[in-house]
Amino acid sequence: MKITDLKCAVIGQNPVVRVVTDAGLSGYGEVENTKPYLKPHVLFYKPYLLGEDPTNVERVMLKIRRLGSFKPWGSAVSAIEMALWDIAGKAAGLPVYKLLGGKVRDKVRVYNGAVRFPMAGSSPQDYAENVAKMKAAPEGFSIIKQGVAFHSVMPNQVPNFFYGEINPAHHSPYDGQFRDVPHPHRGPLTERGLKHVIACVEAMKAVLGDEVGLALDCGPGWMVPDAIRLAKALEPLNVMWLEDLLTGDYVPYTLADSYREVTQSTSTPIHTGEQIYLRQNFKDLIEKRAVRILGPDPADVGGLAELKWVAEYADLHGLLIAPHGIFDGLIGLAALVQVCATLPQNYIAFEYPLGQPAWWYDIVEGLPNPIVKDGLIDVWDRPGLGVNFDVEAARRYLPAGDEDFFD
Ligand SMILES: [Mg+2]
Repeated sequence: MKITDLKCAVIGQNPVVRVVTDAGLSGYGEVENTKPYLKPHVLFYKPYLLGEDPTNVERVMLKIRRLGSFKPWGSAVSAIEMALWDIAGKAAGLPVYKLLGGKVRDKVRVYNGAVRFPMAGSSPQDYAENVAKMKAAPEGFSIIKQGVAFHSVMPNQVPNFFYGEINPAHHSPYDGQFRDVPHPHRGPLTERGLKHVIACVEAMKAVLGDEVGLALDCGPGWMVPDAIRLAKALEPLNVMWLEDLLTGDYVPYTLADSYREVTQSTSTPIHTGEQIYLRQNFKDLIEKRAVRILGPDPADVGGLAELKWVAEYADLHGLLIAPHGIFDGLIGLAALVQVCATLPQNYIAFEYPLGQPAWWYDIVEGLPNPIVKDGLIDVWDRPGLGVNFDVEAARRYLPAGDEDFFD
């Protein structure tokens, strides 16, 4: 079997990758819905793929893996890798999890991710009401993550929150509109700002109790001493993790030594990793035990096998894994389910993406309905990623110039 074409069409806001072969099989991968601009970057890799056997996934990846980088420049390579596994699974008649070593669990745990509700404001009461809605969501999540501090509009809405300069143009990335760099604020917190964050976490824990775990996306943007103060103050509340305090999101480096200082100072688990590309860039974080939990996104880290490698190496060093995935769409969801079924027992949960807009559910076949039950997704057994386009339904959402995407 040989690769005869690489196609990319932006469907909704997600660049969708299609690897075409001479055997009548195609594989699909998907880039985050926050990156519609990446189509030319995907097509950049086409000359390297043509003529290769897609079922030798690693051999193909050796040709393109070096031509990527931290988020968002690892996304195209990652989506191509997913599409290769999809073809390899279809060719073998096996689900991708079998090709990655077999599943170690029949259901994979997810946390709320893209299931969230508009915040009325930034007060403790607003936070309590917001997580109450998430707790009541029909998916029955056993872990909920909420954005606070620099990963929220607190710097804009809470007077004297920090000593740095406020960026008035900041908009939450969760509305899909990047009118500015995401989460641009960084600097020392005031005592009032720190107390406000702690009060909001206490208000959320009062709602969730010990029934539903609470994780907090915090930055990036914290100074090391403030991060230590927050982590120590929250120790009695047993939060699941504090994410991306120092670096993360779109930061193209990790600062493992600074993270190690925070982690060593507290029993509160520290988490990072969603923007990191390739196993090599996790080496410092893992070998220095700089954080307790890693959160690579298969659509940014370099793909499914890359995520599994990072999870296994983390497990050898006593670290846990909770993959990012909020914007990965429905093909990305299928990829997350397949790889997370195979991860070692340091696996916590992955961040659940939605099909956005909602018509995505009309054009992708193979997902269970409902998808999430009691916070878990049943691992399916169809070949490849186990989902496919309803081509006739999907055609009408193809943009001008890409009408031949499925041909
Ligand atoms: Mg995050």
